[in-house]
Amino acid sequence: MIARRFPIKFLAALCGVLALAFPTLAADGTPAKQLFGRKKLPSAMPAEVHGFYSKGCFSGGIAIATDGPYWQAMRLSRNRRWGHPQLIATIDKLSRDAAEKDGWPGLLVGDLSQPRGGPMLTGHASHQIGLDADIWLTPMPNRRFSAQERESTSAISVLKAKSVVVDPAVWTDAHGRLIMRAASYPEVQRVLVHPGIKKRLCETYKGDRSNLNKIRPYYGHHYHMHIRLRCPDGSASCRAQNAVPASAGCGKELDWWFDVALKPKKPAKKPKKTAKPKKPKKPKHILLSDLPTACAVVLNSAGPATETEVTFQAVSGARTAFAPVKPVRSPFSLPALVPVPKPRPFVQ
Ligand SMILES: [Zn+2]
Repeated sequence: MIARRFPIKFLAALCGVLALAFPTLAADGTPAKQLFGRKKLPSAMPAEVHGFYSKGCFSGGIAIATDGPYWQAMRLSRNRRWGHPQLIATIDKLSRDAAEKDGWPGLLVGDLSQPRGGPMLTGHASHQIGLDADIWLTPMPNRRFSAQERESTSAISVLKAKSVVVDPAVWTDAHGRLIMRAASYPEVQRVLVHPGIKKRLCETYKGDRSNLNKIRPYYGHHYHMHIRLRCPDGSASCRAQNAVPASAGCGKELDWWFDVALKPKKPAKKPKKTAKPKKPKKPKHILLSDLPTACAVVLNSAGPATETEVTFQAVSGARTAFAPVKPVRSPFSLPALVPVPKPRPFVQ
């Protein structure tokens, strides 16, 4: 009998040691969002994406610096400014192109991913594999926000209040150029925006319209656009999303949003008195075992040795409109190792 040879106390201690040695054993039943949400730094492994945008993780992530010449990262306390290196490079490129060619002064960068991706404690269903980025549809101001302002400042909706159409008092041609610029990059597979924005682009965009098919109408997304990259090279276990249709999507497909999806619902008939109240459904959490098996390795691998290894700084160029300031350090509970950008050399 095992119990005779190995007293229960000994077995319990053994289980404890095993759980420490193999944290995934202890993780059974714990929602994956808690396991990934706790990680403050990426895994120090080569950059690789595992799984799908709404069910996966990634290794070798890097953070976008809190400040670049043409961007400012927002909501620093969320620690969601991590992505696959290709996503960070794309944001840098977009910020520069938009400022130099499109009349958009700089990007306010919203949520990217957690350091190792995975499900998030709050908010998005996607953003799990380091290939999604929310870019505010509010132009960057001509000054640096404080850390506190980055928490409290709200993005501005481009829609008229309580409507599904763009507000001409907010919308500018530069909004359109910024969105179409993002869609023009071959690595960007789709850009999600509110149907009202898509309609505006369909009706008024004067530039190259060949990428209008990448502009995908969706609920919400009138405060920010959501940029999604295709699976990058070197990520065999990244699950690709369906290709976007070849047509611009300005006809019937767009009409459906206004005629059906966004139509105000008729008030529901009075419920019968005999109807029993429905039991609230238990939310189903994604578990680590639901994710690709490589995600357990990503979750439990060591972090980077130094902070500079994992922070992206813009390579060259700087705005001359305002003086360089000290990069903002988040006042929230980030560990000392979380990358904070070094002051950049200022180009006059
Ligand atoms: Zn998003």
